[in-house]
Amino acid sequence: MEKQLNELKQQAIGELALAASADKLNDLRVKYLGKKGSLTAVLRGLGSLTAEERPRIGQVVNEIRNELEQLIESKNSQLKQAELSARLASEKIDITLPGRKNRLGHKHPLTTTLDRIKATFMNLGFEIADGPEVEQDYYNFEALNLPKDHPARDMQDSFYITEEFLLRTHTSPVQVRTMQKSEPNQPIRIIAPGKVYRRDYDATHSPMFQQVEGLVIDRGISFSDLKGTLELFIHEMFGNNVGVRFRPSFFPFTEPSAEVDISCVICSGSGCRVCKGTGWLEILGSGMVHPRVLEMSNFDPQQVSGFAFGMGVERIAMLIYGIDDLRLFYDNDLRFLRQF
Ligand SMILES: [Zn+2]
Repeated sequence: MEKQLNELKQQAIGELALAASADKLNDLRVKYLGKKGSLTAVLRGLGSLTAEERPRIGQVVNEIRNELEQLIESKNSQLKQAELSARLASEKIDITLPGRKNRLGHKHPLTTTLDRIKATFMNLGFEIADGPEVEQDYYNFEALNLPKDHPARDMQDSFYITEEFLLRTHTSPVQVRTMQKSEPNQPIRIIAPGKVYRRDYDATHSPMFQQVEGLVIDRGISFSDLKGTLELFIHEMFGNNVGVRFRPSFFPFTEPSAEVDISCVICSGSGCRVCKGTGWLEILGSGMVHPRVLEMSNFDPQQVSGFAFGMGVERIAMLIYGIDDLRLFYDNDLRFLRQF
């Protein structure tokens, strides 16, 4: 019996020495020490031995069992150590590699420009007004002194949805809505920024673009208020050295009307391709609110007067950043956008 046990032990030691993985080691543990393992079988057979032999054989079996358990344990840690060394040898970390930066996004140049425009007017006490982009023909044209057969409607080829609804071609309807909401003859001082839509597409026009319009109504508002406000705004945006010029113009909803130019920011007024050799760049339209527009919104032109102005946000941003194609703003090309 003892001889048989020793043979079993030697066999187990031999097989353990060859075990090359944790899985294999576990198989051997089951084979010799498990519930149905060889040593356990011997222990179960103890009953058939004499009372004299039983304790001695039992002791031998326990010794072998302990010995094998220790062997398995040490073999297990050997295998783990070997595995770790192998990994350390193959996985090399190059600490000289540059780190990976997390790229932070930033505001679109048009958003930055619009934020500056808003901040400048808010500092002057203007409030921000908002209105629908799908607008009624009445607010977009009629209430602005542009009746259905008015030739100026041709100037702004529009996206009509039905005969009565269209995508607004300017933010002026917000001015009308603001006037009609307010008490007659009460002071108004707003800017209306927002998206507008026209059927244009080239280097300086996009079918969707952003406008900011302004409206001031109060007693005793004169053209010099318009001039002072817009000059201050322009110097705030383009610096104090830029020249400002008011040029007579025509808009159906203002009288008198003026286009506003600044001295060319590229050539400082000496003439270049951007200003077409004139030394001036047109940046906004303005004028005194037409008495009929005031009347249509229940304001009395005998008591109050006002001025209005409008500009394209893209145009301003192009001049600030020196961009020559408006379509770049909407191409979503990161090579372009990352420059700002
Ligand atoms: Zn120029």
